[in-house]
Amino acid sequence: MAKKVAVIGAGTMGHGIAELFAIAGYEVALVDVAEEFLKRALQNIELSLKKLAEKGQLKEDYTVILSRIKPIVNDVCKAVEGAELMVEAVIEEIETKRKVFAEADRCAPPNAILATNTSSLPITEISEAVSERRRPLVAGMHFFNPPPLMPLVEIIRGKYTSDETVKKIAEYAAQLGKQTVVVNRDVPGFIVNRILARLNDAACWTVARGEADIIAVDSALRYRVGLPMGAFLLMDYVGIDVICFIGDAMAKRGFKTHPCHLITEKCQQKKYGVKTGEGFYKYPAPGKFQWPDIPKEPGEKLDIAALLAPAINEAAYLVREGIATKEDVDKAVRLGLNWPKGPLELADELGIDVVVKVLEAWKAKTGFEEFAPDPLLVQMASSNKLGRKTGEGFYVYSKAEEKRLETLIIRYEPPIVWIVLNRPERLNAINQKMVEELSSALDEISRMDFERARAVIITGTGRAFSAGADITGFVGTTPLLAYKLSRGLHEITEKIEKLDRPVICALNGYTLGGGLELALACDIRIASETAILGQPEVNIGLFPGGGGTQRLARLVGLARAKELIFTGDNISAKDAERIGLVNKVVPPERLEQEARSLALKLAEKPPIALAMAKYSINYGYEAPLWAALDLEAAHFGIVFSTEDLYEGVSAFLQKRKPQYKGK
Ligand code: NAD
Repeated sequence: MAKKVAVIGAGTMGHGIAELFAIAGYEVALVDVAEEFLKRALQNIELSLKKLAEKGQLKEDYTVILSRIKPIVNDVCKAVEGAELMVEAVIEEIETKRKVFAEADRCAPPNAILATNTSSLPITEISEAVSERRRPLVAGMHFFNPPPLMPLVEIIRGKYTSDETVKKIAEYAAQLGKQTVVVNRDVPGFIVNRILARLNDAACWTVARGEADIIAVDSALRYRVGLPMGAFLLMDYVGIDVICFIGDAMAKRGFKTHPCHLITEKCQQKKYGVKTGEGFYKYPAPGKFQWPDIPKEPGEKLDIAALLAPAINEAAYLVREGIATKEDVDKAVRLGLNWPKGPLELADELGIDVVVKVLEAWKAKTGFEEFAPDPLLVQMASSNKLGRKTGEGFYVYSKAEEKRLETLIIRYEPPIVWIVLNRPERLNAINQKMVEELSSALDEISRMDFERARAVIITGTGRAFSAGADITGFVGTTPLLAYKLSRGLHEITEKIEKLDRPVICALNGYTLGGGLELALACDIRIASETAILGQPEVNIGLFPGGGGTQRLARLVGLARAKELIFTGDNISAKDAERIGLVNKVVPPERLEQEARSLALKLAEKPPIALAMAKYSINYGYEAPLWAALDLEAAHFGIVFSTEDLYEGVSAFLQKRKPQYKGK
């Protein structure tokens, strides 16, 4: 005889949960208060099963699966008879739920587990509706909508829940093909809804305070953080009424929050999002979703640390309080919200010190207590556990190591290598020694395996990236030596262009003459707002000899290059961005973090495909079109010899994140 489960409530969640258990081979007793609700639920299940069958995802005929679901009108007692598990998914009302639990307790076998799918109600209070003997068998089993598609189940302990019950629910979830996280205390919102609430708050207050508009926030979250949807769009998608309802329920149970008026106003106006045809965005008709136009550009200027810090703060609270492990917090957010990384992984990337600073700023400008940095973050920041950059944050990374040369600091921060120009007293002017050291550093990186060096960042210490070639070395130079000096710079810049991994230049200040020529060879340039760029050689009777006459023209066009070189004028970072000389300009305090985030993003891409793309672009640019296209075809062919291509396609089909090895 097949094992039996009871699902109480056949609405949005209940019917999906019933479907999952039926697919897994269970007899399912599905209860609702009226025949019509059950009929609709069965129709929906049938539709969904047919779709799965068409995709070849069912092992049995869909009618066999459907026949395992027995609809029962308004009789919890009959449904739980002989069942080993009940999952309750009735409306979100404590008294209704308690009644269901009391009745189930009376009729279910003594060792049956009684679980609730509640999103916001306390498990403990629900479990107190059953006999003391049963309480250890009561827990939260929180699915996400729609249950057949969403891969996560949060298992929530109430005050009485036993370890055995948690373990068994995890086993049930595994049979349904779900992954689980354990929430050790029934705090309002558990993990996922708490963290989402903080992101929504941060997004909303950023707009409400006039710091950015809705599109800029959603653009930054989508394109810079990699979330599937920005906060506002997701609220529209889920239903702003649901957001208000859950928010209220959480606040009533003590979740510290200041409801943001942009959200509550939408609820008052009944502009709930997709379902009503308008929320933060407008849709073609009620219930008809269409992607709004959210371009990449408006999000470029936003500080993603500021948008993410409140969510990270919440995650830190959950960990410090022992409510969930750091791994489970990150996993819950990755699977429940489809973030590419969990909040604590993101914190390690941004830098814990950066997160603390941003939270202090949030607290100072809003006065909201919930933005005050969690003690765990403060303690980590003060003990130098800053994340990736120090080798340890929430997680431990390969230790960052530093090598100090005469003119450079090489920092190995796998998978990034930093080359830091380090002659601050001379504004990092490039002398013969620096040329030699840069040359051997680049050689060394080209020999490193991809695990340790996927991307390179070049930056400078002090006020300059590099103010140019060290002209003190020019005195008494013969034409032949000057020729060699020029060729020396060419050699380094060519090494950068030929390096089989991306090189990012983070321009932290003066980027002049030879400094700019070095930067021109990098694949991507990010500049601090304080950076000053120029080719001022003509001012001392020279002209650029380190590649400037060629690369500047290729990058910004002949006319602009001539203007810069002939006048010798310096330009601001913003002007440089406008003419395409730098990719992006950021405030000085964010330069390091932006460069690191970009490098880590590139580090997740297939290294050989990146290298081949770089070569196709760099070499192809110098060749006639037909030769360049042929080169592209050859490089394209090389990628087909890699394991990474197989990994990329498999991961795509399996809907998981690819793990590239550079093989
Ligand atoms: P819903 O309103 O779609 O469905 C609830 C169903 O329960 C309705 O069909 C209703 O007729 C039925 N019902 C009410 N009283 C009942 C009773 N005494 N006995 C049997 N059936 C009864 O709601 P939903 O969205 O499916 O939510 C159900 C539960 O799941 C709630 O606790 C909710 O918080 C939680 N939840 C919802 C979502 C979501 O995104 N919708 C996600 C996770 C968890």
